Amino acid sequence: LITAQSWLLDHQHIKTCLPTPRLANSHKGTFGSIGILGGATGIVGAAVLAGRAALNLGAGRVYLGLLADADHVPVIDYGQPELMLRSPRELLRQVELLDCLVIGPGLGNEIAACDFLQQALHSDLPLVLDADALNLIARHEELNKALKRRQAPGVLTPHPAEAARLLHVTKDDIQQNRPRAACELAKKFNCPLVLKGAGSICAYPDGSHYFSPTGNPGLSTAGTGDVLSGFLGALLAQKLTVEKALLLSVYLHGAAADRLLDQMGGPLGMTASEIIPSARSLLN
Ligand code: AMP
Ligand code: MG
Repeated sequence: LITAQSWLLDHQHIKTCLPTPRLANSHKGTFGSIGILGGATGIVGAAVLAGRAALNLGAGRVYLGLLADADHVPVIDYGQPELMLRSPRELLRQVELLDCLVIGPGLGNEIAACDFLQQALHSDLPLVLDADALNLIARHEELNKALKRRQAPGVLTPHPAEAARLLHVTKDDIQQNRPRAACELAKKFNCPLVLKGAGSICAYPDGSHYFSPTGNPGLSTAGTGDVLSGFLGALLAQKLTVEKALLLSVYLHGAAADRLLDQMGGPLGMTASEIIPSARSLLN
């Protein structure tokens, strides 16, 4: 870590991460298909938010694989009917259709969730691992090993408590030296990641890391992390490199919240759903 390089993200740098302008002859296949796997009973909204976020950030097609059983989940998202709802099994049977898979938002910790995660880790798909996917990896040695052995691209999006579980330390340990924790995690799993929270840090296995200056306490509300994982997945589906997709999604997510805060006059009552159109208009 002594030779590690540390940067503060700025607008100039972010400009180099933007997707190329859309060509006149593009079609939905040009912008990739993304799967979101999660949404267990009682936490369906986490997967729906990630799906809406992915769609609104330009993914060509968005599939949700929802764990909640048929009695607890609608067959359609009436607020965003573009989303294609599947069971996790159906989604995993069609991985060849996907360019990226986000797994974790509302995944829960049932045995079935472990199975789906194991399958995802053994696929060649670019993966965004968030929320309960990270908690399961922290708890189960075989998942931990599967992640470490992966060759295909992946990104982790832990908040401080998830990072603490992955490193088997306390949340205070993480917060006391966030850059060190972020770099240690990236190295441990040989995988880029963002350590979320006030002053998000994007870190790479070689020890290089970037601080994001965007974001505010309006984001301290349920669902905002799910929106970030959807943004990140959408950019990966559009074939941005992992490095660019990670930096752009983290910066943009915070900037969208900063813009909303200006419009609202303060952070109170900001919602995860509102971050989505705010980010979309910044990117357009
Ligand atoms: P999660 O805890 O997974 O829902 O993710 C919360 C999201 O909101 C992450 O992107 C955090 O970086 C962001 N966030 C939460 N609280 C703050 C804060 N006080 N300042 C800046 N960003 C925040
Ligand atoms: Mg989260």
